[in-house]
Amino acid sequence: MSTSYERERTVAFEAVQAAAELCESVRESMGEVLRKDDRTPVTVADFGSQALICRALLAAFPEDPVIAEEDSTALRNPDNAEVRKRVVEHVKAHHENAGPEGVYTWIDHGTARTYSDRFWTLDPIDGTKGFVRGDQYAIALALIEEGTPQVAALCCPRLPSDLDAETPASRGQAFLAVRGEGSLRRPLRDGAEPEPIHTSDTETPSTGRFTESFVGSHSSHDLAAEVGERLGITADPLRIDSQAKYAIVASGEAEIYLRLPRPGTDYTERIWDHAAGALVVEAAGGTVTDIHGTPLTFTHGPLLKSNTGVVATNGLVHEDVLDALAAAMA
Ligand code: AMP
Ligand code: MG
Repeated sequence: MSTSYERERTVAFEAVQAAAELCESVRESMGEVLRKDDRTPVTVADFGSQALICRALLAAFPEDPVIAEEDSTALRNPDNAEVRKRVVEHVKAHHENAGPEGVYTWIDHGTARTYSDRFWTLDPIDGTKGFVRGDQYAIALALIEEGTPQVAALCCPRLPSDLDAETPASRGQAFLAVRGEGSLRRPLRDGAEPEPIHTSDTETPSTGRFTESFVGSHSSHDLAAEVGERLGITADPLRIDSQAKYAIVASGEAEIYLRLPRPGTDYTERIWDHAAGALVVEAAGGTVTDIHGTPLTFTHGPLLKSNTGVVATNGLVHEDVLDALAAAMA
């Protein structure tokens, strides 16, 4: 990688890895889970992760707006004093002078909601359901300029180095991408330097495999199975929570990530669920579009308003996948 966005990528990469440490430490002592209106479980780690990352962004790039998933409203509620105490304790492990007011300020630094020419988007814990279950989750941060992700830092604290190995060599991977300059991966916890990754070189879809949401309400498993059948894919789908799916395609462990709206539903994807992962795939050699082949457009605030679903591939099988999908939906 050359030296563009030097400071952005250093700050972002360090911040997501610090947040991953916080999340894993919360996981070890997991207790209370809050419920938001939409019933998404929101944990101490969600708030702690957003506080840490927004603090780092505020310090390094005070002018940059941040569109992040959480805000401090639930945390300020007197009923949640216990959760608040634990969030502050976990943040203090990284910044010893932190107190509740600082934590609110940092979390709420992530509440920008309008598009601007340069902004960050953050999912402090993507795949909360996976996190709660003890499965995969990710911390996803991207810098977007002129509507296009330019820098991505994605941390998957529970992703094994080799999905197919019976005993993974290491658990926890951090990914860093700069547009046009490749994607890097480093295993967490062993001090190793980041190394380049590349998407799979499989040109024949039938010999590949696809990954999709673990949660069936986030993506149609039935439609994906039909697409897989049309492509002649025989391998079982990898059902995994969070943007770890993008990481898997970027590192060549699956050829295709399908996120397909369930028939009759009308969900608009959120930018923080895709910006970082999509760039990690693209910079690793892959292609990312929506289900109609339209590029993802990050110019509508928090929503991917001009897109429906997502198809991410190694690039080589992209057209075949879009064709199979169009036929399956016809
Ligand atoms: P995943 O772990 O890939 O299934 O995606 C988790 C993300 O799905 C969460 O961060 C939510 O923002 C998002 N999500 C929630 N409801 C839906 C839905 N109905 N369709 C697609 N994504 C959703
Ligand atoms: Mg998410």
